[in-house]
Amino acid sequence: MDTRISGKTRLLGVFGTPIKHSGSPVMYNFCFNYYGLDCAYLAFDCDESQVKDSLAAMRRLNMRGANVTMPCKQEVARNMDQLSPAAKFVGAVNTIVNDNGVLTGHITDGMGVVLDLQDHGKTIVDKNVVLLGAGGAATAIMVQCALDGAKSMTVFNRGEEGLAKAREIGDKMMADGVSCKMEFHLLSETELLHDVIRKADVLINATSVGMSPKHEGKSLVTDMTVFHEDLVVYDVIYNPLVTKLMSDALANGCKEENVIGGKGMLLWQGAGAFKLYSGLDMPAQELKEFLAKREAEGIDPLQDLSLIHISE
Ligand code: NAD
Repeated sequence: MDTRISGKTRLLGVFGTPIKHSGSPVMYNFCFNYYGLDCAYLAFDCDESQVKDSLAAMRRLNMRGANVTMPCKQEVARNMDQLSPAAKFVGAVNTIVNDNGVLTGHITDGMGVVLDLQDHGKTIVDKNVVLLGAGGAATAIMVQCALDGAKSMTVFNRGEEGLAKAREIGDKMMADGVSCKMEFHLLSETELLHDVIRKADVLINATSVGMSPKHEGKSLVTDMTVFHEDLVVYDVIYNPLVTKLMSDALANGCKEENVIGGKGMLLWQGAGAFKLYSGLDMPAQELKEFLAKREAEGIDPLQDLSLIHISE
């Protein structure tokens, strides 16, 4: 890589803490190298109290951009010159682009799911989507799907507080003219949940239910008759690679190609950020092969790429 560094090299990075295990430097430097871009990417330990200084440094050092991870996403959103529509609705930023000192905050977490679905030949455009959860990942997914043309989003969450926050965002989006019809319910309304899934085109689990080790073997969908062959099931969880929701869907009529786990989500939210930095498509196939090679060498690429806060 040292042969790429010149007097004109632009710096990019990721801000957050803890940050030492972030795989973002590996991922983005691979992409810069692939295209021969004169850019270098480093990880910077930064907590919320250091956000303003870090943003000042971005301007002072003319950094091209930065990713943002926990715990800084909301604080960064409060200190941007401009926000993308998705970042404005979510109130969080995971990607900053610096255009001549003007910092624009974006959030590509939800893009991770939309682009991963596209990579599997699926679309949310004009589709009725059921979303389980109203936490960080779920909110970003909800906003992106609504902005990208989902026909309806029906959100189910365990707690009233999270649901109220999601509802507030949904109401703002609809008031702003986003045409997606958005509805919000508690997961305790199980009959309604199952009824809505039966009529849905896409079901997305964005809760930690199903995740190893604490929630492995659990699923929020308990009526096996809701699954049907046209239903696309996406689970944001990637550990295990096949969750109970996914195995239930497969055993009860969903097509194999319609049941997708969350392994690609991190890569595709990175692709969204890379495009914002460079205007170029991430070399996804080459990156996947590179990561698979690292995996074969015993380095867990998913752990490496943990840009997004994993709650459990
Ligand atoms: P979060 O803490 O912000 O939200 C957690 C959500 O799970 C909330 O909606 C909460 O109500 C729900 N939940 C937790 N336990 C529950 C239970 N027993 N019953 C019903 N609902 C329950 O966390 P987050 O950052 O939004 O992450 C959520 C999940 O998404 C995690 O499993 C995380 O690993 C996964 N994730 C995956 C990727 C990826 O790249 N594939 C990226 C981000 C998050």
